[in-house]
Amino acid sequence: MAVPQNRITRSKRNMRRAHDALVAGNPAECSNCGELKRPHHVCAACGHYDDKEVVAMADDVDLDEEDAA
Ligand SMILES: [Zn+2]
Repeated sequence: MAVPQNRITRSKRNMRRAHDALVAGNPAECSNCGELKRPHHVCAACGHYDDKEVVAMADDVDLDEEDAA
């Protein structure tokens, strides 16, 4: 196993970690349903993009359909 030859100083360690912060997302309102959605992505709630429905939403998915037969 590779072993570091030299100890990383607190300063160098913290300089590396200065770029590790997570940035918050930038959600935007869907122009069709008003739900928050990711910019430039299809709305997960209504399947619309640019005021057009591009993904059909399944309203009533019966997961137990196979067991009933
Ligand atoms: Zn929507």
